[in-house]
Formats: sequence, C-alpha cells, structure tokens
Amino acid sequence: MAERKRVLVCGAGGFIGHHLVRRLKAEGYWVRGTDLKFPEYSETDADDFVVGDLRDQAFVARAVDQRFDEVYQLAADMGGAGYIFTGENDADVMHNSATINLNVLDACHKRNIKRIFYTSSACMYPEHNQLDPDNPNCAEDSAYPAAPDSEYGWEKLFSERLYLAYGRNHGIEPRVARLHNIFGPEGSWRDGREKAPAAICRKVATAQSGGEVEIWGDGLQTRSFLYVDECVEGFLRLMHSDFQGPVNIGSDEMVTINSLVDIVSSIAGKELRKNHIPGPQGVRGRNSDNQLIAQKLGWQPSTSLADGLKPTYDWIEKQVFANS
Ligand code: NAD
Repeated sequence: MAERKRVLVCGAGGFIGHHLVRRLKAEGYWVRGTDLKFPEYSETDADDFVVGDLRDQAFVARAVDQRFDEVYQLAADMGGAGYIFTGENDADVMHNSATINLNVLDACHKRNIKRIFYTSSACMYPEHNQLDPDNPNCAEDSAYPAAPDSEYGWEKLFSERLYLAYGRNHGIEPRVARLHNIFGPEGSWRDGREKAPAAICRKVATAQSGGEVEIWGDGLQTRSFLYVDECVEGFLRLMHSDFQGPVNIGSDEMVTINSLVDIVSSIAGKELRKNHIPGPQGVRGRNSDNQLIAQKLGWQPSTSLADGLKPTYDWIEKQVFANS
C-alpha cells in the first residue's frame, strides 16, 4: 500500500485550521497540527498535535522535524474589526505574524519541503478601491500600488511576497490564497476576535424577540462571507493545482451588514430592531472577485450565505445557552 501523505497544519488550534485538519483526516492524510493551543470547542482529529510558539525558531525546528509532503501555514495574530482596526494591536499583529511566517518558511526550506499553502487576506487590497459599498474592486491584479487599510493587511502583503520570493529563489512551491471573511461553527464568538457573522449570531441569540441588535456603523457597509467548508475545499483544490496564486477564496454574494442581521434574525425566528452605534468598521465595501479562481481552478464556492449561517447560528445559540 502506498504510504500516506504527511501534512503539517500550522494554526491547527484555530478556527479554519481545526476544520482543515478534520477534512485532511477524512481524505486519508497523516496530519500533524501545531498551535499555541488546542482547538477550543472539540478534540482535534490530528494524528499528532504539538503545542508551542511558532515565533520561537527552536520550537519551529521541532515541529518541522521531517520532510512533510504538504504544509498549510494558517497561524497568525488575528481577529475581527474589534481587534485589527482599533490600532491597539498593530505592533503585535505585525511582529507576531511576520515572525511566524519567516520562521515556518525558512524551516520548510531547510527540510527541502516544497509545497506550502499560505493564507493571506482580502485585507491586503487597497482601501481606495473599497470606498463604494456597491462596487468594491477586489480583483487580484488590483493589489498594487498597495494601500491596505490596516497593519494586518500590510503584514499579509509582506508575507505573500515572502512566500513568492522563496518560490523564485529557493524552489519552494507556494500556494497563496486571499481569504474573504470565513465563518462557521467553532469560530471565535465572544472573545473580542469574533467577526461580523459570529458577533451578529451571538447578539441575535441573546436578544429577546421584539428587542434590538447593536450594529457598528450604519449597517450599509457591504461584505461577502464564505462558509468554512467551502473555504477548506478551496484550499485543497488550490494546493493540488498548478496555480500558485495569489487568488481570492471567498463568496461573491455581497450583502450589507443590515441584511446579514435580517438573515440571522429570520433563521432565529425573531423580530429585532437595529440600533446603529459607533464602532470599528473597516472598508466601506468588499466582495470576493471570483473570476480568477473560476478560470484557474474551474471551481468557485457556491454555498449560499443563508445555508452557511443556519449551522453557524445553531452552534452559537448552543454556546450562548451553555454559557448563560
Ligand atoms: P484563528 O485566530 O482562529 O487561527 C489562527 C491560529 O494561529 C490560532 O489558533 C492561534 O492560536 C494561532 N497562533 C497565533 N500565534 C501563534 C504563534 N505564535 N504560534 C503558534 N500558533 C499561533 O484564525 P482563523 O480564522 O482560523 O484564520 C486562519 C488564517 O486565515 C489566518 O492566517 C488568518 O489571517 C487568515 N484569514 C482568515 C480569515 C477569516 O475570515 N477567518 C480571513 C482572511 C484571512
């Protein structure tokens, strides 16, 4: 029997990493996960899981102690708007994530590991192309001249370039994805790092019917949100394709934050008023442009927002009750 492929997932204790490990195991891979922590809400499926700090080169050398067939690098200091747009975490976000990427990539190079997947973010796109909520431009070739609206986005851009440079100079085969707002069960929902879908599910779950939901800003800012299973499907397809990216992995079903609240309220069966309050919002409009992924991979995500929100809401509602 052929030997099973061996895969390393960095950031395997996090939201997407945990789902990715589950999928890789279902596909028959031998998987090592590594992270600062174990997944919070359920046991990891990884064959081996090493807890440690990827900012520490000695730890990274131990985690990358063999020639893995594939490495997925998801570890990053990150969070939703309440974490990355206030300015308070800028130095940590840049220092921590850049150090992780420098360390992991170099350790892989030293082991002669070729195929490495890097999760960049739509936050690296220029702010000036995302001022019109009805018509944001997030085509891959709109990235330069660069002008992200957060230090988180600048670090992602730096690290994208780092992976591609190792590709050009050191024979690494990077695969670079720009993720657009991934959501689903088992993500942050109340620790200050949660993103809009989880925060809104939580607010709706805790509200009484006839009550209100607080929304940061006027709610007319637009976004698209991708269900985590589709995100992981995109990872595997890109990883096993000949295309290195960078390419968007996101949904192109763009909605206002007000409509996101309406969808979640209807899933919950609650009538709720919207109370618009000041808060960090990020760019005015953002949507995934899926032309390149469709062209290069012959695939693009298709799960609707409402279909993804249903299991997400059910999971968050359970957390709310379990913690009340
Ligand atoms: P997450 O925060 O749940 O997972 C990141 C993981 O990295 C965490 O478990 C964290 O403990 C780990 N980590 C942080 N610092 C570490 C360190 N020094 N050593 C070891 N582990 C460390 O985030 P996620 O939503 O699963 O995102 C995964 C990746 O995708 C990140 O790189 C993120 O920037 C990117 N991304 C996510 C989204 C999204 O909507 N979730 C959007 C764009 C890009």
